[in-house]
Amino acid sequence: MSGSSAGNRGRVTIKEIPIRGKRVLIRVDFNVPLNADGQVADDTRIRASLPTIRYALTQEAAVILMSHLGRPDGKTVEKYRLKPVAERLGELLNRPVTMAPDCVGPEVEQLADNLKPGSILLLENLRFHAEEEANGAQFAQALAKIADIYVNDAFGTAHRAHASTEGVAHDLPSAVGFLIQKEMEALNQVLISPKRPYWLILGGAKVSDKIQLIDNLLDKIDGILIGGGMQYTFFASQGIPIGKSILEKAHLGTARNVLAKAKERKIELRLPLDHIVATAVEAGAQWKATDRPGVPEGWEGVDIGPKTIALFQKTVQGAATVLWNGPLGVAEIPPFDQGTRGVAETLAGLKATTVVGGGDTAAAVTKFKLADKMTHVSTGGGASLEYLEGKLLPGISVIPEKSGSLPSPLPAAGRGGQGAAEFRGF
Ligand code: AMP
Repeated sequence: MSGSSAGNRGRVTIKEIPIRGKRVLIRVDFNVPLNADGQVADDTRIRASLPTIRYALTQEAAVILMSHLGRPDGKTVEKYRLKPVAERLGELLNRPVTMAPDCVGPEVEQLADNLKPGSILLLENLRFHAEEEANGAQFAQALAKIADIYVNDAFGTAHRAHASTEGVAHDLPSAVGFLIQKEMEALNQVLISPKRPYWLILGGAKVSDKIQLIDNLLDKIDGILIGGGMQYTFFASQGIPIGKSILEKAHLGTARNVLAKAKERKIELRLPLDHIVATAVEAGAQWKATDRPGVPEGWEGVDIGPKTIALFQKTVQGAATVLWNGPLGVAEIPPFDQGTRGVAETLAGLKATTVVGGGDTAAAVTKFKLADKMTHVSTGGGASLEYLEGKLLPGISVIPEKSGSLPSPLPAAGRGGQGAAEFRGF
């Protein structure tokens, strides 16, 4: 195991710090999609935070929640106000959620001071302030000022060193919430001593996005199945025609390297046997199936073909562990979602440990209503990828380790972890 994976292990959890009767500031990921009326279109992320919020309420904590929504770029943008989220959260918890007018400042301080045990206050969108993403020390201190304890439960932003995900942890006793704990436990199953045979399924647009993941897992896996847009860079690197399919010209060497490394380590690497090709990557485009590897001139590969679906399905039958990152075709445009669907259906029926990471893959599995049939579907796209690449996520590594030792040095934080040192021993 790489040293950095170890760094993401064993952080103090909300259950291991005394929060009874305290003001607990919880960073959640309420970055939900809104519909045209400004209402919450999908409340999955709100639901994912409920175990931590409910636990804090049972401890008679005064619960202060904070999140970003959308990309307001440091300015107040009306459509990114968190009021609809507060309403939905109130419905889910069946209790009132007070909406703060901002996330810092005297008014917010007063609301937090007067917050009764067992009550909930939701701060306004953190990203209305540029200092949030800049991880401004003063802004982080202003957030810390309104609480006694900090809990990070926003796995989806844990790979960002922002004031609310990293900076604030230097100024308060800190812990991770149940969502981050669950993500870490699930992702560790495929990172640390995974059961063999272990197959990695990779898709998505680019080889370059997945190369670090492959490198970090090479000594743990038995095989790799490659689909999605990235397969065409592999085919092109072997001189196989790919028509006008997506190609990363600068990464032809990367693809060749992966093929060579897999061969050297006796890892089976299977590329598609056939394709679904279309005149364009858009709904309603003309399409057809091919019956061999390679894409005809003037066509674009948009999905794996039926022979490949069968091959991939058969291959994973024997697996004890499967990690899947990246859709195998353009899954957001039916009928180019058939390969992704076929493989998802097979994984859903396996007894193996099945972990799905990456935002688009998770969205596809959720669309097929198969998410609850997998061992774990990560709530974080970029965060799960970085975690599986073996990187330290700043929003996790800033939280003290369970043993009470100091957190590892942080590349992006720049505040030296001095706060965490004061609070070690929880
Ligand atoms: P990633 O974020 O790297 O997992 O990439 C996900 C994106 O890859 C999705 O938007 C898919 O539509 C896209 N994708 C999958 N297969 C293909 C393909 N054959 N051609 C172009 N894009 C693809």
